[in-house]
Amino acid sequence: MGTALVTGASAGLGLEFAWQLATARHDVVLVARDEERLTRLKGQLEAAAGVHAEVLPADLTDRADVERVAQRLRSDERPVGLLVNNAGLGLNQRFVGGDVDAEDRALELMVRTVMVLSHAAADAMVRRGRGAILNVGSVAALIASGTYSAHKAWVRTFTEGLAVELKGTGVTATVVAPGYTHTEFHARGRIDTTHYPTAAWLDAEDVVAAALADVRRGVVLSTPSLRYKAVSALLRVAPRPAVRAFGSYRRALLDAGIEAERDRDAARD
Ligand code: NAP
Repeated sequence: MGTALVTGASAGLGLEFAWQLATARHDVVLVARDEERLTRLKGQLEAAAGVHAEVLPADLTDRADVERVAQRLRSDERPVGLLVNNAGLGLNQRFVGGDVDAEDRALELMVRTVMVLSHAAADAMVRRGRGAILNVGSVAALIASGTYSAHKAWVRTFTEGLAVELKGTGVTATVVAPGYTHTEFHARGRIDTTHYPTAAWLDAEDVVAAALADVRRGVVLSTPSLRYKAVSALLRVAPRPAVRAFGSYRRALLDAGIEAERDRDAARD
C-alpha cells in the first residue's frame, strides 16, 4: 500500500490508524487541524517505527485546505497508496432548532471532504494501477438518528458505488462501520455517555486492526466486532418502523445527555 494519508490523525481512531500503519512500515501523511499534536506524533512515529511521517495541517471544513490535501493525494512524485478518510465529529444538538452553521460544517467534513479526497486519490491510484481508499462510516448509517446517520449512510453508499466503479483497476474501496468506540469523539461533542450500555463499547485498537485487515483483503463493507456484525445484520433486515424505533432510542440517549449537560450548566451558574 505504500504511503498512507490519514485524516483526523491527531486523536482517536485516526491516531490509532497512524500508529498501526507506521508499525506495519508504511510512511504516513498526518492530516488534522492541531499541528502541535501532529508534530509530536510525527516525532513519536519516526522514533518508534523508523518510518517517514509528514505533517499536513488542514481544517477539512475549509475548501482551500481540502484542496491542498487533494493536491498532495494527486502527487505522482510522492505517491499515496492508502487514503483513510477518518476525520469526523458528533454534534450534540437536535436538528430542529439547532445551529445550522454547525450542521453545514459537519456536512462539509463528513460528506463533501470525503467525496473530494476520494476523487483525488482514486484518479491518481487508478493511473498507477494500485491503491486503496478506506472511508470511516458508522453503524449509525443503518439507523435513523439525525444528520449524523444521514452523513454516514452517504459515506456507506458512496463507498460501495466507488468499489463497483473501481473493480478491475487494482484499486479498492472499503467503508468501515464502527459502533461506539472509546476515543475523544463523545467528549469533544460534549455528548454525555453515562446512559450508554457498557457492552456497546469497542476499543480503537481493535476497530482499526479489523478495518486494516479488511482493506488488505479488499473487503468493501467492514464491521468490526461480532456484536456489531450481529446488530448490523438485524438492522439490514428489520422493518423500517423498527429501524426508526432504534433511532428514537439513540435520540433519547442523546437527549438525556443534553438535559444532564443543561442541569450541570445551571448548577454552575
Ligand atoms: P475523535 O477522537 O474526536 O477524533 C476526531 C479527529 O477528527 C481528530 O483527529 C480531529 O483533529 C479530526 N477533525 C475534526 N474536525 C476536523 C476538521 N474540521 N478538520 C480536520 N480534522 C478534523 O473521534 P473518533 O471517534 O476518532 O472519530 C473518527 C471517525 O470515526 C469519525 O468519522 C467518526 O464519525 C467515526 N466514528 C466514531 C465512533 C465512536 O464511537 N468514536 C463510532 C462510529 C464512527 P483536530 O481536532 O486536530 O482537527
